Amino acid sequence: MSRDLSRRGFLQVGAGLGAGALAAGALPGLARAATEGRRLAARHGAAGLPLVITSHSNETGQEAMRQAWAILAEGGSALDAVERGANVIEVDPDDTSVGYGGLPNERGVVQLDASIMDGRTYNAGAVAAIEGIKTPASVARLVMERTDHVMIVGRAATEFAKSFGFVEEDLMTPRSREIFLRWRERHSEDDDWGPPDHLRSAPAGGADEAIEQAGRLLEGEIEHHYGTTNVLAVDGDGNVAGVTTTSGLSWKIDGRVGDSPIIGAGLYVDNAVGAAGATGRGEDVIKSCASYYIVMRMRDGRSPQEACEDAIEMIVDRYRNVNPDFVPPEKFVAINKDGEYGCAWMGLRGLPKMSVRSPEGLSRFEGTARYQPG
Ligand code: ASP
Repeated sequence: MSRDLSRRGFLQVGAGLGAGALAAGALPGLARAATEGRRLAARHGAAGLPLVITSHSNETGQEAMRQAWAILAEGGSALDAVERGANVIEVDPDDTSVGYGGLPNERGVVQLDASIMDGRTYNAGAVAAIEGIKTPASVARLVMERTDHVMIVGRAATEFAKSFGFVEEDLMTPRSREIFLRWRERHSEDDDWGPPDHLRSAPAGGADEAIEQAGRLLEGEIEHHYGTTNVLAVDGDGNVAGVTTTSGLSWKIDGRVGDSPIIGAGLYVDNAVGAAGATGRGEDVIKSCASYYIVMRMRDGRSPQEACEDAIEMIVDRYRNVNPDFVPPEKFVAINKDGEYGCAWMGLRGLPKMSVRSPEGLSRFEGTARYQPG
């Protein structure tokens, strides 16, 4: 999901939707996306092989595709390509949703989740709540290739990485720290973080240097982030691989693990079919086994685009009876072995985008939104 998507903002929009409106598609200011036939005809990526995509559509996502493509173009494996692509995004200090510079949990600690899956060997690896390592996708690959396990978590994951020569580092950047400090000072009126009350309420304009400084972090919006990246590829030999890597939900409870490191939830690869990955509220994705569901839909003949949309519908359907006002903020991406790709999300903030590199070149693809501004 786009790294600038505000969690609070998104959910507030969702909460404002009328009961039953989701099911009926009759939302004020929103229209159900075009009929199935129309939207599928309009949004259906197909580009041939090899193919690599990422849910990151920004410049870092494009650079990730360039570097992954360099591997694929030389006959390299999908596995190497997705790891390289993920690493490019993980080490970007300006990306607050993945790896280095990712936003921390409520204690101010950056805890990363990542998984990797290799269709060729039907093997998978993952790390969860790992701290201090910039490239968790590569640690996940070591779990996959150098152990008989699939997932290693927490402090043990950091020690595992260090045993292979990874360096433990502070993953906070000046930017992510400032965003965190602002959140900590502002998210509640009921704690003691922030400037003292008598400075906080000083009349505007009359503040001296000390007062201004005390209030500095109070300026600006509190940012709540979803954000993750999926990198999926099919190589020239027809082998499929994928990575999902994230700093998870910003301000999450210490130790919380999302969908990204869970095979079948945040990522799934089947060498006979293709691959799928998820971003968004991991709790929805874990319960729905969404990536597995998408790959199974493709196995049953659905295109990647259709299968991503099926997963959105499936999750909406599960919540319909419980809370029809709830808008699950997931984004799904998928590819198949024929070189087709797709992505879908609930919408409310335009169309979901992803970066694609194929024999046709480097591009940005827009998928479908279940609801669009109408
Ligand atoms: N899915 C991730 C998680 O729940 C977050 C995200 O994609 O924004 O940890």
